[in-house]
Formats: sequence, C-alpha cells, structure tokens
Amino acid sequence: MVKDGTKHIASLRDGRRIFIDGMCVDDHTHHPAFRNAVASAASLYDYQAQPQNLEKMTFTSPTTGNRVSRMWQLPTSLAELVERRQALEAWAELTCGMLGRSPDHVASCISGMYMGLDLFERHSGARASAVREYYEYARDNDLYLTYVIISPQADRSKSAGEQSDEFLVAGVCDEDTQGITIRGAKMLGTGCPLANEVFVGAIQPLKPGEEKHSVTAMVPLNAKGLKILSRKSFEAHAPSTFDSPLSSSFDENDAVLFFDDVKVPWERVFVHNDVQLAQAQWHAIPTHVYQNYQCQIRLMVKLRFLLGLARKIAETNGIVNFPQVRETLGQLAAETAMVEGMVLGMEAGGWHYGKYFVPNKKLLYSAMVLTQQLYPKFVTTLRELSGGGMIMLPSSVDDFANPEIAAHIEQTQRSPVTDSVGRVKLFKLAWDAVGSEFGSRHLQYEMFYAGANMVTRGHAFRTYDWERAVGMVDGLMSRYALPHAETQKVT
Ligand SMILES: Cc1cc2nc3c(=O)[nH]c(=O)nc-3n(C[C@H](O)[C@H](O)[C@H](O)COP(=O)(O)OP(=O)(O)OC[C@H]3O[C@@H](n4cnc5c(N)ncnc54)[C@H](O)[C@@H]3O)c2cc1C
Repeated sequence: MVKDGTKHIASLRDGRRIFIDGMCVDDHTHHPAFRNAVASAASLYDYQAQPQNLEKMTFTSPTTGNRVSRMWQLPTSLAELVERRQALEAWAELTCGMLGRSPDHVASCISGMYMGLDLFERHSGARASAVREYYEYARDNDLYLTYVIISPQADRSKSAGEQSDEFLVAGVCDEDTQGITIRGAKMLGTGCPLANEVFVGAIQPLKPGEEKHSVTAMVPLNAKGLKILSRKSFEAHAPSTFDSPLSSSFDENDAVLFFDDVKVPWERVFVHNDVQLAQAQWHAIPTHVYQNYQCQIRLMVKLRFLLGLARKIAETNGIVNFPQVRETLGQLAAETAMVEGMVLGMEAGGWHYGKYFVPNKKLLYSAMVLTQQLYPKFVTTLRELSGGGMIMLPSSVDDFANPEIAAHIEQTQRSPVTDSVGRVKLFKLAWDAVGSEFGSRHLQYEMFYAGANMVTRGHAFRTYDWERAVGMVDGLMSRYALPHAETQKVT
C-alpha cells in the first residue's frame, strides 16, 4: 500500500503545461530536460517502499491505517521528532542533499500549518477546515508538494500592490460560490516537474489594501490555466552521468509560475483577503520553523557530502598530509559538525506548541544565518583545494573511447591513490558540485532559498533570547556607578 516510485511517476503524467525552449512539453516524465530528475524523485518513494525501510521511513496514517511517509508525522515528543528526522536524513542522503525541494520540504510546511489550526480557527472556520482536510488528503495520498511564495522581481522598492501591473504579483481577480480565481505570477517554483501540487502564498509582508495578494491556496500542477515557465535545463545539457553526475540526475528545475485565471475551489483556500493571516500563517504557528528545520537537515547532509569530496580531492592530489591542508579540512570538518550539532540542539531544545513538539527557533534561525555564509565558503575551499584539477579534464566520456586520447588520459591523469579513470571521475563530480552551471545554481539556492541574508538575520534578531543577554549586561552595570555616587562596587 505504500507509495512507490512507479506510482509517483504515473501521478505526474497529468497533462500539466511545462514550457521550455519555446515549446510546451508533452509528457515531461520522458522529456530529456526532466526525466532523470523525475526518476530521482521516484527513487525516494521506492526507498520508502522497500520492506526493510518501512519502519524507518513511514508511519501509519491515523485515518486510513495505511503507511505513509514520515514527512507527514506530527511529533509530540523529542523521540518522535528525532525518529522523523532520521527518515528525512535518510532521504537527503540518497541525493547527497541536492534536491532542495524534496517532498519533505513543503510537507513540513503543511504539517506546521496543521499544528497551528487554532490560528486559522480564530480567523475563519472554513479556512481552518480547508487546512485540516488538505493536510489529511496530502498525507493519505503521500503527495509531493512544492511552493511559490515570493513575488516575481520587478521593482523591489515597491510592494506587491504598487507594481506597474495590478496582477504582476499573483492575486485573486474573481470569486464566486465555487471558489476563487488567481491571476498573475509567482517565483520560483522549484521542483514543479517532480511534484503533484503547488502551494501558492505570500511570505513577503503585505499592507492593508493589498488583500487580493493575501491568498494561500493549493493548486494541482495540471490545473487549467497554470503555466510552468521553466528555466534552462541543466539535465538536458548533461547527457553523460560520468561527465555530469549531479546535473544529469538531480536538476530539480526552477520555474516562474503564471496563473492565467486559475480557478481554485474554496476547500483548497487557506487564506483569503486577510493580510494579517497571510503573515501569521508563517510565524505565529510552527509552519516556518518546521519547514526550515527540514532545510537544515538536508543542508547538514549536503555539507557532509562536500566535506567528503574535499577530503577525497586532497587524497587524490597527494596533498592530504600537508599541515595547511589538514588544517583546511579540519576547519570544514568543524563547520560540518557545528551544523550537525545545531540540528541536534534544535531537537534537544525543542518546545511544545499545544501537543506538538517542535524544534527550537533560536537555534534554527542561527543555523540559517550561518549556513547561508558557510555554503559559499565551502564552495571556495573546494575550489582552492582542487586548483586546476577540476579543469584539467577530458572533454567528455567519449575521449575514453578513442584509443589515442585514452592513452594520453592514462599518461596524464595521475594520482597516488587511484587510476586515471578514478581521478577523472572524482574531479568531474567535484566540478559538477561547485563549478558547473548546476553547481552555480546550487550556490545561488543556498544563498537565497529562505530569503536574502537580511531576511534570515531578521529572523535571528526576532527570535534570540535578548532578555537573557541584555539582562546580564544590565545586571553587571547595576552593580557599579560613578565613584562619587553612593552605590555598591563590583565585587
Ligand atoms: C535557485 C532558487 C530556487 C528558489 N526556489 C524557490 C521556491 O521553490 N519557492 C519560492 O517561493 N521561492 C523560491 N526561490 C526564491 C527565493 O525565496 C528568493 O530568491 C528569496 O526570497 C530572495 O528574494 P529575491 O530573489 O526576490 O531577492 P531580493 O529580495 O530582491 O533581494 C536581492 C538583493 O537585493 C537587495 N535588497 C532587496 N531588498 C532590499 C531591502 N529592502 N533592503 C536592502 N537590500 C535589499 C539585497 O542585496 C538582496 O540580497 C528560489 C530562489 C532561488 C535562487
């Protein structure tokens, strides 16, 4: 009964409209721009469906009695939070953390919203029912969801309602007894070719008067009028796994979504005409914390992978025993372990929101700020350790098929620890991780997926325990004064 990869791929053949290279794609699960990433997404479901992984990866749905992914689990204790994290971590390991919007990301968002049903109830019983029923529907069908919650870049000095076109930023253009109609654009739908449905919402603050943009709704990716405007595919330009092991398999895609008057029934509308709820849905309840905790689990795995790459590069180039190189690797190891420690800290320092046990906010937002800075440092260090090795490479796997070139590869690609094929294989992987167009997009992703650094620093500022820090300063200062004043001295 557990969802597997075959079932997931079948669910993606739904007539959605993905536009790429001037064309609307017919069946994207077979298209050279998307098919391998689709297969990678399917492999996550195959993994959970393997009998030996069922317990680790799934739990029993309280409504159907069927086993579904633990990404939908709503922990009520530290032990359950850890159990769920172990499932998410196992999934991230399958892609070395390269699928930013793997199914567990938006599942975490929706689960956090469900934990905060009390907030929706206070605003509208109907909207609360929509959240409740959708969470159960998505969980029981083990759906892969993605989201678009950012206004397209245009004039960032103006808010959504002040742009030159009333519906540049997606908003509600009509409503009737059946539901609402959404018109306009949102960025950036990562993983749209891999997912079943998209969450459309607004995380950037809105002002009174911008009610039409304060919409949160769930839309199937094959909804009439929904256009998925894909960026360039890296997968399409990576025909060989040996040459581009990551681009060829994990190009999850990013797209501008254009809602060309898309009708959404009321049962799928979580927020409507309510600028206050549009903000509160993220920060007044566990939503934002829970979804970004998933990101830190994934990123922890990805940093471990990059650390492993760094060490192998050092061994392959015979530099691993130089003291400076060991220091460099020690620094990366310490930073990776710090992120691991922060994930454990978020769990150990978790707290109850109602009956649910959720990760510690202060540590989560600190980790978000720090990992946003760490990732570019990791990329630079990997480049530094590699030197020209990531460039001194055969043009493609076809070079190995030409005996004359193959002989020169054998002569020139040398290493103290591996043969010429092993060396080329490693450095091609390293380049794909940090230098290729795919690697470069990953750098941009890790720098921006949760907002520019001013945004993440703002969250850290908002959630730090200032009373304790400032209280200590005040406490000390209260123990002394000007020498002539009649106060106690510092003891
Ligand atoms: C690869 C990738 C995948 C993504 N996937 C998704 C997704 O799946 N779903 C989704 O909803 N979003 C996604 N995003 C969008 C992401 O959430 C945004 O990029 C992020 O929130 C930052 O917004 P922005 O890109 O509009 O940058 P901006 O907010 O425009 O910021 C860009 C820069 O402009 C400057 N700036 C802007 N405003 C100010 C200000 N007020 N004060 C001072 N400086 C300012 C800063 O230098 C800032 O770094 C993705 C982004 C990337 C790069």
